[in-house]
Amino acid sequence: METAPITQQEYLTAGRCLRRVYEERARAFENGSEQSDSSERFAAEQYERVRAIARDHFAARTDCTFNVSVGALGCVAVVDILERRPDGSVRPIVVQPYTGVKPKSLELLRYQTVILREAGYNAQGGAVVRLAKGYVRGTFLEPAELFVEEECRKQIRGGLNSVRRRISGLIEVLGQRKPPEPCDRLDRCPVCSRLSGSSQTDGSGDSPSSTGGIDTGVHTLFLGYGVIGDLEREGYSDLSDVPLSRLPGRRQRLQVQAVRDGRRHVDCNALREFVERCRFPRVFLDFETVSAAVPPVEGARPWEHLPIQFSVHRQEAAGGPIAHRWFIADDLSELHDSTRELAETLVDALSDARSVLAFSAPFERRILHLLARRCERFSTDLRNAADRLVDIQEPFVRFMLYEPAQQGRTGLKAVLPALTGVDYYDLEIANGREASLAWYYDYRGVPPSPRREKVAEALREYCALDTLALVDIVRRLEEIVDGSDCSDRE
Ligand code: SF4
Repeated sequence: METAPITQQEYLTAGRCLRRVYEERARAFENGSEQSDSSERFAAEQYERVRAIARDHFAARTDCTFNVSVGALGCVAVVDILERRPDGSVRPIVVQPYTGVKPKSLELLRYQTVILREAGYNAQGGAVVRLAKGYVRGTFLEPAELFVEEECRKQIRGGLNSVRRRISGLIEVLGQRKPPEPCDRLDRCPVCSRLSGSSQTDGSGDSPSSTGGIDTGVHTLFLGYGVIGDLEREGYSDLSDVPLSRLPGRRQRLQVQAVRDGRRHVDCNALREFVERCRFPRVFLDFETVSAAVPPVEGARPWEHLPIQFSVHRQEAAGGPIAHRWFIADDLSELHDSTRELAETLVDALSDARSVLAFSAPFERRILHLLARRCERFSTDLRNAADRLVDIQEPFVRFMLYEPAQQGRTGLKAVLPALTGVDYYDLEIANGREASLAWYYDYRGVPPSPRREKVAEALREYCALDTLALVDIVRRLEEIVDGSDCSDRE
């Protein structure tokens, strides 16, 4: 194994898994530095942006030096800000792009303290510069309000010996010819399989416990984190074998009963009442958002989800045609803030709707209130729309309906195929995260990206299918309420 100094990132990763450090270093040695995906690139850019603003902000302080690189014990530390005190001691300061002090920032301070001391500095104390949670951006960015400096002397005291032990362990592992053996989390950790370039499963897609392609293993128990391990240790592998008395609640018992019966569970009265709340004219609403460490526009907070796109499907009356409206923001920046245009188009698309249907509606409610706060002219309409929200996830989370094919999940991508047999998500953009990154890198801003038209099409398609999926789900719920499942029981 190559003997380059251990980096800060490798030190932090070693806290979770030594094998991972070994494998990633071996791969980097063989392949050179690989291109990061856009998600990693975005995270790195957020970090860099926060550090650059912090550097400018602290530059006025003559007692501070920036990006100080120090080597000792076969490791290298890069201190974001090194404060020099009149008594000759120094204090490392970590800049992090989050609103709460992260354990990894404290671990970094411990590591930097050890390396600084070994290199001959009198390192005392340490601080984290973080983003202020309650900060709301004005017309311009105000770094004095954006950043909070938090002294962490107490939190890092006492952990310095464990830093030395971790460094020794890491040096020993990196000196070996072979990586350490994988741990027993292999089935839950994607890293080993990704690093070795192979899947840890047999590739058939069937689990040992499956019925007609439906996974019925105990690991699929709804919200079962607290008991799955115990059940597995007791020898249960299939849900249908678990006694109902061993299950933690009503919903898990309904799930297991549905698996045993091989048919859906329906609470017809509750489901009918839910369906009656989806009144006409009805709209189906979905937002895509972007969230950045440094608020890009006036009125925004650090990491706040800001809407960049919406899709609305609208139906005026039962059995009537369904119309589609959408909007994609040109930009969200100091130069151009599309929020007002988005709000205006949205208010028009939602006008007079008696029900606004969304999946996992608290998110849509939050975005509607955010838009109301930021666009005073439309605030009444937007708040009224938030009041008319109906959450399409509710029947599934409350087990008014459970299909065995949901396999213990209640998210949109599990519910849609389980209920309708349709799966829309074989798309160029397959989830909200990808949509937000595609918008950020290949759509927004000036000059237009050469990929803008293609990305616009993919964004429209993804967001439209999200609301079309809601149309299909509600239609299916209505069919179930009107069908034999419910009429037989009346
Ligand atoms: S499965 Fe592999 S990468 Fe994941 S924690 Fe275990 S040893 Fe590390």
